[in-house]
Amino acid sequence: MNTIFNDTKVAFSLKSDTELDRAYFLFKLIDNQPLVRIGTAVTNFAIKAHLPVEGLIRATVFDHFCGGVTEDDCLSVVDKMFTKGVSSVLDYSVEGKEEEEQFDAALNMTLKTIEFAKERKAIPFAVFKPTGFGRIDLYERVGAKETLTPSEQTEWNKVIARFELVCSEAHKKNVALLIDAEESWMQDAADDLVTEMMCKYNKEKAIVFNTLQMYRWDRLDYLKKLHEKAKAEGFYIGMKLVRGAYMEKENERAQEKGYPSPICVSKEATDENYDASVHYMVEHLDTMSVFAGTHNELSSYSLIELMQQKGIAKNDDRIWFGQLYGMSDNISYNLAAHGFNVAKYLPFGPVRDVMPYLIRRAEENTSVAGQTSRELKLIKAERNRRKGK
Ligand SMILES: Cc1cc2nc3c(=O)[nH]c(=O)nc-3n(C[C@H](O)[C@H](O)[C@H](O)COP(=O)(O)OP(=O)(O)OC[C@H]3O[C@@H](n4cnc5c(N)ncnc54)[C@H](O)[C@@H]3O)c2cc1C
Repeated sequence: MNTIFNDTKVAFSLKSDTELDRAYFLFKLIDNQPLVRIGTAVTNFAIKAHLPVEGLIRATVFDHFCGGVTEDDCLSVVDKMFTKGVSSVLDYSVEGKEEEEQFDAALNMTLKTIEFAKERKAIPFAVFKPTGFGRIDLYERVGAKETLTPSEQTEWNKVIARFELVCSEAHKKNVALLIDAEESWMQDAADDLVTEMMCKYNKEKAIVFNTLQMYRWDRLDYLKKLHEKAKAEGFYIGMKLVRGAYMEKENERAQEKGYPSPICVSKEATDENYDASVHYMVEHLDTMSVFAGTHNELSSYSLIELMQQKGIAKNDDRIWFGQLYGMSDNISYNLAAHGFNVAKYLPFGPVRDVMPYLIRRAEENTSVAGQTSRELKLIKAERNRRKGK
């Protein structure tokens, strides 16, 4: 197997000894499942009770996984990562809001990050979450083709207007815009909206990117149908491919409500589905751009190999690799050192509001087989390398 991801000197070139020790300590904590479960419950309680836990959260998970509280805080991290060729995607990670004012705040923040991206080579994409712009229940009702009340229709028109505004600004400023995917029961309405935006703003190249969660067994077919539509209507497809972050929630809901789970039968089936969709997109690069959002080494190798086989330049701007800040630096920094396009999501926002994102990261690192132990093994190797062992 290709081993470019094992070069820990490159992977941790930006980390001081102290930062490396802190990362080791953090992943050791996260590796402990009961501790994460208790820690999550206690933190959720403390936040709801307005207890002053910000300091503790900042000193532990926040600073490791986030760029700061504001977009300006992130700039020093953006610049630092870019010295090693790793780009950033500023991700306003405030989640779970339900008020119009909060949706407008997310809209304004997304517009600001588009402006930031326009001015900086180190920030090649902007990003937003559909539920940042509207209530999840509303997406669900629209997706299920239910009849909306007049006030719901007004509310939905505002969601459409927010999508329209960010996509038209991204197009005007020539900044590619990633749109995250979330729970399957809200996704149909979001997919229809994003497709409309692609049809409108991706006439010359991929500016608007949707996201496909390949843990869903129906997504490759969805991609193929979208491809037919894109050919017929003359637009480019921009797609971020991920495995998906809501698996437990999806399975629980399907079981509770008695419908077949939208999730693949096994991890292996998800892996195959993921690699097959990457393959499909690379086969059709004439009309598609792909952002491979993954921490999976095999999927990343397989994309590298595919590019080599097809003689695609490493820095072809239709192919990007993406990881999350604070995770899998061995993949990001080694890819960049070899000349591939890499961007890391750099979350920011008030400490309390970023908690759902942080909890997902802690749970993911606890539950994903091998992920944390891989991080620990790599950090240990680098510590030993620096000590000359
Ligand atoms: C840049 C970037 C952007 C992202 N954007 C989004 C987004 O918009 N929406 C979103 O939902 N997630 C997003 N994610 C998170 C992503 O979906 C995964 O949760 C995370 O990356 C872990 O998957 P992996 O590909 O790194 O690989 P791995 O660690 O190899 O795979 C773990 C994943 O496999 C799947 N899986 C695990 N067990 C099973 C099983 N028994 N059966 C079926 N499938 C299984 C799950 O999806 C799990 O998360 C993003 C990740 C990155 C790096």
